[in-house]
Amino acid sequence: MEPIQMVDLKTQYRKIKAEVDKAVIDVLESSAFINGKPVSDFASSLSLYLGIKHVIPCANGTDALQIAMMALDLQPGDEVIAPSFTYVATTEVVALLKLSPVFIDVDPKTFCIDPESIRKAITSKTKAIVPVHLYGQTAPMEEIMAIAKEHSLYVIEDNAQAIGSDYVFKNGTKKKAGTIGTIGTTSFFPSKNLGGYGDGGAIFTDDDNLAAKLKMIANHGQNKRYYHEMVGCNSRLDTIQAAVLNIKLKKLDEYIDARRTAADYYDKAFASCSKLTTPFRAAYTKHVFHQYTLLLEGIDREGLQKHLEQKGIPSMLYYPLANHKQKMFESLGLKQFDLPVTESLSPRVLSLPMHTELTGEQLNYITSSVLEFINQ
Ligand SMILES: *Cc1c(COP(=O)(O)O)cnc(C)c1O
Repeated sequence: MEPIQMVDLKTQYRKIKAEVDKAVIDVLESSAFINGKPVSDFASSLSLYLGIKHVIPCANGTDALQIAMMALDLQPGDEVIAPSFTYVATTEVVALLKLSPVFIDVDPKTFCIDPESIRKAITSKTKAIVPVHLYGQTAPMEEIMAIAKEHSLYVIEDNAQAIGSDYVFKNGTKKKAGTIGTIGTTSFFPSKNLGGYGDGGAIFTDDDNLAAKLKMIANHGQNKRYYHEMVGCNSRLDTIQAAVLNIKLKKLDEYIDARRTAADYYDKAFASCSKLTTPFRAAYTKHVFHQYTLLLEGIDREGLQKHLEQKGIPSMLYYPLANHKQKMFESLGLKQFDLPVTESLSPRVLSLPMHTELTGEQLNYITSSVLEFINQ
């Protein structure tokens, strides 16, 4: 059995090596390292795949969020509603732009923001909502969009974890995660479902004016070279990454299937264990399993992690400390946030290896090792 990894990028690479190596060498030969043809090719292919008009590539998923918030002209003091149970990048950029993060709770089943909590958090200063499609499952966008419409709020979907996930509206219409809100953002960090071989990110919108502005902000606020209309930043997807992503995008659906097959195996193996809650799959969306995260009920998490580690099985905590508890936000006086669901999740979550290359043998070994600890 091959050693088990949280994310096995090496085995995946070996399967596409010939194609990737050629594409990278082509970039080296062309020496168009910045804004080479693969970058615009990738933007068009991704916009086709997602069914959205504009895809603006940028340097990483954190920049994508920042550029999105800059393009919406949010002003210092404006309130941005976001979950606390997410990777810190989501709310870090809110604070970086001197906006006020308003942390809300998540649904105990989906781990995505809960529409009721959004309603309660809205004030006259609220300008935007940032749903995070956590672990690969889309947040309840239909409800979120209805609230946003009612209160004239922008919606920025942080889709770093759920690219390729479908969302089905009550009338049967389907849309891809990240294409429903005002703006969608994603990350091509290597371990993400659509990952490059370095950093990368992108921003999506259907709005032509907004797209032009997003593009301008990502390029030092310039429309015409050396004429800068506004303060922007420098955020590009480099050509080598785009060349790799062009190949991996063609495989994205296949990769999602592989993740879902691994998740099915885990679900089945753990189904009769009352001390483990397997990931809930909301009927309105297709879970793309960026992570496979269990909720432990009365299990010594540290002990389980140690047991797994001794058997050569990695596991991770996404995320051990909620955003509103982070020292970085101390000066914002966020102690007043009372988020019981979030606070009950942090000490109980455990993510198991999840990637496109898990074999039946590995899955059997992982699941029996988990159950062995619980049933001992
Ligand atoms: C990975 C991630 C980001 C940030 O992406 P980077 O490319 O690492 O900057 C933002 N939000 C979420 C939810 C993520 O998982």
